[in-house]
Amino acid sequence: MPEGDTIYLTAERVGAVLSGQTLTAVSGSSGPIRANSARLTGARVVDVRSIGKHLVVETDADLVIRTHMRMSGTWEVYEPGQRWRYPEGAARVVLETAAAVAVCFSAPDISVSRPQAAQLELAHLGPDLCADVFDRLEAIRRMAVPWNDTLAEHLADQRIMAGVGNVYKSEILFLEHLHPESSPLLESEAIERLVDRSRQLLMLNRRRPNRITTGETRRGGELWVYGRGGQPCRRCRTKVEAARIGDVERITYWCPACQELA
Ligand SMILES: [Zn+2]
Repeated sequence: MPEGDTIYLTAERVGAVLSGQTLTAVSGSSGPIRANSARLTGARVVDVRSIGKHLVVETDADLVIRTHMRMSGTWEVYEPGQRWRYPEGAARVVLETAAAVAVCFSAPDISVSRPQAAQLELAHLGPDLCADVFDRLEAIRRMAVPWNDTLAEHLADQRIMAGVGNVYKSEILFLEHLHPESSPLLESEAIERLVDRSRQLLMLNRRRPNRITTGETRRGGELWVYGRGGQPCRRCRTKVEAARIGDVERITYWCPACQELA
């Protein structure tokens, strides 16, 4: 599932073929795209970037395309005429230039809006963990307000910091010895460490296609607990636990020995 670092890489890949280019055709099954395809066709792409887990395409037609991948969406880049990896019916956004085709498949959350409205749509997001400039103090300030039931939900709340998804949530809590069902009411030092660890991990992986939190590049050794339910903890050999905490769609992983419930 795409998290902040994945979307950052994707924005670089899509930006490499679209930035500065004129859109020769704009199509796809997304309603907002179809409604604006005439206005977007002929526009020049000014910038492609990630904001948290959103990918934003800015054009000189005074319109901004915003996509959020949720669980299943993906952006792909092709040469004209090249065979696509997914069926055409799954193409939500298709942006063509003279030299390339960028296709967004299956993303459920897409908007096309004026720049000011686009900014408002993203105004709720906390500091972006993958941005070149990260407002650490603001992230700490937001993290210190314990408005979620569990720490797991708190850490993945995009209004606090933008970019942490399900994988990082489990990994960061493991590295900080914090149980996912702990209260988000933490001492200020723990909050600072949580913010710094999140920033460090996402920046470390920002340009790496496969996510690594253990420092181990060998296949199968990249992550501490995520996806390892029932397997021995890499630190203490206790069985890693897996459960749905808060957000019902997603599973959180933790080691009950390394991450004691306070
Ligand atoms: Zn352990």
